[in-house]
Amino acid sequence: MRVAIVLFTADLRLHDNPVLRAALSAAESVVPLFVVDSGVRDAGFTTPNRAAFLSECLADLDRGLRARGGHLVIREGDVVREACRVAAETDAAEVHLAGGSSGYAQRREDRLRSALAADGRRLRVHDAVVTALPPGAVLPSGRSHFAVFTPYYRRWSAERLRPVTGAPRRVAVPTVSTLPLPAAASLAPGTASPALARGGESEGRRRLAAWLRSGVDAYAVRHDDMAADATSRLSPYLHFGCLSPVEVIDRARRRPGGAEAFVRQLAWRDFHHQVLAAVPGAAARDYRTRHDRWRTDPEELAAWKAGVTGFPVVDAAMRQLAHEGWMHNRARMLVASFLTKTLYHDWREGARHFTDLLIDADVANNQLNWQWMAGTGTDTRPHRVLNPLVQARRFDPEGEYVRRWVPELAGVAGGAVHQPWRLEAVRRERLGYPGPLVGLPDALARFRRARGLT
Ligand code: FAD
Repeated sequence: MRVAIVLFTADLRLHDNPVLRAALSAAESVVPLFVVDSGVRDAGFTTPNRAAFLSECLADLDRGLRARGGHLVIREGDVVREACRVAAETDAAEVHLAGGSSGYAQRREDRLRSALAADGRRLRVHDAVVTALPPGAVLPSGRSHFAVFTPYYRRWSAERLRPVTGAPRRVAVPTVSTLPLPAAASLAPGTASPALARGGESEGRRRLAAWLRSGVDAYAVRHDDMAADATSRLSPYLHFGCLSPVEVIDRARRRPGGAEAFVRQLAWRDFHHQVLAAVPGAAARDYRTRHDRWRTDPEELAAWKAGVTGFPVVDAAMRQLAHEGWMHNRARMLVASFLTKTLYHDWREGARHFTDLLIDADVANNQLNWQWMAGTGTDTRPHRVLNPLVQARRFDPEGEYVRRWVPELAGVAGGAVHQPWRLEAVRRERLGYPGPLVGLPDALARFRRARGLT
């Protein structure tokens, strides 16, 4: 075969990329294509934070391809139409694509398959690119997906992953027109958060190597310590596919002890993808309805978003999100519980705000983690409520995380920072920090009533 197209989506990498590898072995030359997808943009999914990260990913991918004799080809518009146009221009016989789990990805795949077939061309979809195991690779008997994590994890762990492959040495690209690499501002207008991680495969690989050298071994004991910041921070690189989950797991498992606690988190990622692939509607609807009649209170919601609820650990987390476009997992859990259970607001409001700011926001992991926390998802204890004070005392006992993100409280020493309302009145007033938005016992009683638990 003369020409094949690699349609890059959530696999912006050269290493361990089965899509690229298959196209290279099928054809004499390949078109490494990225389409700035108007469908994704119009759905509001390209935000300033993700646009900044994405533009760096694309520039890095282009540099990597140039070092191998090729370059990235950029188009803009409807992804199916553009892929078909490039196929016609280069007379490509095949388009290679990574399989995705969202409803959008599944529809894109179907549309592309039939549009190409109409021109006598073929779509080839590759598995285990975005996730370590493809959705559906392990199934409970007679059902479309696992609805509980623990049995899924048992089966997932027993599966052998495909072998890891390196980056190609050469990538020959036929003559084809391209747009310039997109700048962040052209992908999404607006201001990005001030302290975003840098995007791209090179940066992702550098961080992975550093993490395996000096972070992962302490993960099991330190990952919940919010001040220690002792998690990998690889989620944005996994989300954009700068890193292959198969390679990350393979390299982590080679550590003495097998880095089991860390690998288990990557299984959570696959778990949510397999739920979404089987139930695409869970992106917008309750996976398991609890018949909630959520409260609406725009001022409360705005206070939660702005990090001025008067609960220091909640506010610290929300401010970290605004500043970095990323938040610690424990912090994500407690702010989500606070919004959906303590304030009893719809999980979709929280998921939308996270989607607006997180670099790593993806439909599977964001929506389904929100549903897990709201008790409308796959949590087997759907009505548990995380008390922000208990969480703060356990996971930020010295209050360091709070002082890092809430400067008004920087002068309050130790764990006392978690309850500024207990400080003497004169001092409290001088802080310029709000009082608590709600009383926790009343809020808990309200939630329990709403769920019919009392
Ligand atoms: P590490 O602790 O180092 O874990 C390694 C990798 O495992 C992560 O990079 C991630 O890919 C995966 N992982 C870890 N925890 C989870 C989890 N609970 N579910 C799925 N994958 C996991 N993660 C996203 O990637 N995108 C999201 O949009 C997202 N939204 C979330 C929303 C809420 C309300 C909650 C509670 C969690 C959400 N998570 C999301 C999961 C988790 O918080 C992040 O993956 C994690 O904080 C990323 O930091 P890290 O890379 O340092 O993780």
